[in-house]
Amino acid sequence: MAAFAKSDVRQSLEAIRAQALAELAESSGLDQIESVRVRVLGRSGELTELIRSMRELPEHERPAVGQLANQVKREIEARIESLQHELRLRKLNESLAQTPLDVTLPGVRFFHGHTHPLTQVTERLLDIWAAMGFEVVATPDIEDDFHNFGALNFAPDHPARDMQDTFFLDGGLLLRTHTSNGQIRVMEQRRPPLAVVCPGACYRRDELSVRYSPMFSQIEGFAVDDFGKITMAHLKGALTEFLRAFFGPESEVRFRASFFPFTEPSAEADVRCIFCAGAGCRVCKQSGWIEILGSGMIHPNVLRAVGYDPERYAGFAFGMGVERLALIKLGVDDMRLFFENDLRFLGQF
Ligand SMILES: [Zn+2]
Repeated sequence: MAAFAKSDVRQSLEAIRAQALAELAESSGLDQIESVRVRVLGRSGELTELIRSMRELPEHERPAVGQLANQVKREIEARIESLQHELRLRKLNESLAQTPLDVTLPGVRFFHGHTHPLTQVTERLLDIWAAMGFEVVATPDIEDDFHNFGALNFAPDHPARDMQDTFFLDGGLLLRTHTSNGQIRVMEQRRPPLAVVCPGACYRRDELSVRYSPMFSQIEGFAVDDFGKITMAHLKGALTEFLRAFFGPESEVRFRASFFPFTEPSAEADVRCIFCAGAGCRVCKQSGWIEILGSGMIHPNVLRAVGYDPERYAGFAFGMGVERLALIKLGVDDMRLFFENDLRFLGQF
């Protein structure tokens, strides 16, 4: 290629500028603007090629011509940018004009779901036990007679085994009537020391009423260690700690002797009525105390049933009804409210 003369390059630059600006002035769409950009400023565009060819100019002529080339390039780029901006803005305004936006309309209200109050209470209860070092273990709802009754020292003629009380399934199976089967399931598989809580659903043939439901939730808990390491004092200490964590640090707790087939001795734990502070009211049936849970030292026959030597190991166990604790804690007086799933009720928690 023959060497360029300085004046030729100047003329070419001016020509490119004039033509590009004229075309841009007439273009009416983003596509047209883009095609001008590619033709002039693209990798093999007119201006790009011209700037590249300027290397062939004599060295002393280059600075002045280079300056002009940069000026032309910047001018065209700036014009393209402002046109693009203008066109996009016009497009936006057009679309807003077609679909008017009324900023005074009320917004859409979003309803945020939350966990069911019984789930909230269950989680709270398990958190307290977990903080005391108890492990949470899930155990089966469908059981056999051995894990639900036999291993828990229920006599063969115990009334709980009655068809009136228990849902029996085919093949000698049944729906567990309490979470105490968790004790048997875990102890069968592991050796002490153990500190475990087993939450879950239980089933009994009760009609749904203010106080009963055919399906309800319990949390079973137990701790087993070498004989002498776990006593009734540990049971009282753990349950008192638990009840105060749940009902408040000032809660007064008492233990009453009781009877369960799977514990010996057995005790029920009460808290001072939180509604009347002990003065007597409808909830506590004027007694000033609310019965909360059953507990006791694991019966030697239960330890034997899972292959533990009762001379070597000892443990305590307790069981509590989640609905009952929720009723008291949330100040609700009808068990059915938990199962009807009325959002007006559930939304309060
Ligand atoms: Zn009361």
